[in-house]
Amino acid sequence: MDKTFLQYDVIIVGGGAAGLVAAVCCAKKLFGNIRVAVVEKEFKLGKKLLATGNGKCNMTNHAMSAEYYNLSSRDFISKILSKYSTDKIEAFWKSIGLITKRDAQGRVYPYSGQASSVLETLLLNLNTFGVDVFCETEITEIRRFNKQYRLFSKKRNFAAEKVVLASGGMVQPNLGSGGASYKFAEDLNLKCTKLFPSLAPVICSDSDLKIAKGVRTAADVSLKADGKTVKTEIGELQINEKNVSGICVFQLSRMVNEYFSLGTVCGRKCAKIVISADFMPEFSFEEIQRLLEEKRRRFPNSLSSDLFTGIINGKLGSYLLKKLGIDSCRELCKLTDDNIYSLTSRLKSTEFIPSAPSGINTAQVTAGGIEISEIDKNMESIKNKNLYIVGEALDVDGVCGGYNLHWAFASGITAGNHAANLYMKRGGKNDKSK
Ligand SMILES: Cc1cc2nc3c(=O)[nH]c(=O)nc-3n(C[C@H](O)[C@H](O)[C@H](O)COP(=O)(O)OP(=O)(O)OC[C@H]3O[C@@H](n4cnc5c(N)ncnc54)[C@H](O)[C@@H]3O)c2cc1C
Repeated sequence: MDKTFLQYDVIIVGGGAAGLVAAVCCAKKLFGNIRVAVVEKEFKLGKKLLATGNGKCNMTNHAMSAEYYNLSSRDFISKILSKYSTDKIEAFWKSIGLITKRDAQGRVYPYSGQASSVLETLLLNLNTFGVDVFCETEITEIRRFNKQYRLFSKKRNFAAEKVVLASGGMVQPNLGSGGASYKFAEDLNLKCTKLFPSLAPVICSDSDLKIAKGVRTAADVSLKADGKTVKTEIGELQINEKNVSGICVFQLSRMVNEYFSLGTVCGRKCAKIVISADFMPEFSFEEIQRLLEEKRRRFPNSLSSDLFTGIINGKLGSYLLKKLGIDSCRELCKLTDDNIYSLTSRLKSTEFIPSAPSGINTAQVTAGGIEISEIDKNMESIKNKNLYIVGEALDVDGVCGGYNLHWAFASGITAGNHAANLYMKRGGKNDKSK
């Protein structure tokens, strides 16, 4: 190993969404007058970016507000959003060469519809503004030494006056983020909150789920804590052999995993949680009951499994019958009023009981991280001058819909610009990019 330290002004640890944006902002501002490097442990930059939004990259959202982020980060997020609104983030992307488009729900994507355009635009800028890139270089330790930071890896060591910590969270380690941020936090005396996965399928130990495996159906899906509805999401519920999934479930999964991790839901102690699905939200209980009674009257010799024909997915119907112990081969005329009542109840509220925390390989974002109180408005560490922390490494997580990338971009721009501004002030160097 080369024991000498490669010298840079600014080193960005982690070539993901936040780190790449920080690098571009920093290098662009002081084009040619600043030495910037991105150090990335994977064989290429932006692996996770390419996987976002099913390969389309949902970059931000026009329904933007701090309420879409975790409670503990909201005050800070409000300030960041007042500087970096959705329009500002879109304008930033335009300024570096990427145009965007908005869908009917306000979600913003690259105009090309390809996440690869986002990464390629960043790479184009890194190249143009002379940022050095070191891939397959995993930083294992960051130490402060006099007025510099020293960064160690198996391959080579680096030294820089400023470091941007952009090494992400702990979910989807296959895409790079393996929890290194929290080790660095420990080395640098930064406090972390408890970590758990969010935006993930919810595991349920119900052996009957296999009957409904593959069902995708519109539903109102609620999280109930100790019997009280905490949050309801409307969307497509997917039933799999060992879990329930779909964006509506993802949005509730943070609370499920908070429960398993801390025994609380939205900060309140809680003994029991359930996910409850209303499969026919447009219909009242009485309307559904009448529909089922009508079916029984008109098709008395058909099987119970035919009760749901023309109403809901047949596999879902079989699941509901099984849950109530009703033989699907029983003739419809033999279904009692009580059976009809219970089936109606199940259609309005079927409970899925979460049985384990979601796996880190299935989640999209890490809840928890380096405490927000550790940084100032420029994303600079209060305890460690010239160290910036951005993106998912911090205790910030949003719901599905482009909120996590908005945060990654906004925090990256903030840190990158601030790091460069300090050099401009000090050296009076020109911004040649203007
Ligand atoms: C499948 C999937 C789909 C998603 N879709 C969306 C979406 O459409 N919209 C949205 O808003 N959010 C989405 N997200 C969430 C979003 O991608 C993340 O919140 C965001 O990428 C976080 O950015 P980051 O730069 O902080 O971390 P990351 O993107 O995780 O980047 C961290 C980088 O640091 C590198 N690294 C880690 N440790 C080291 C080390 N020791 N040394 C050097 N490098 C290191 C990693 O390899 C990685 O490249 C999705 C997430 C997943 C997993």
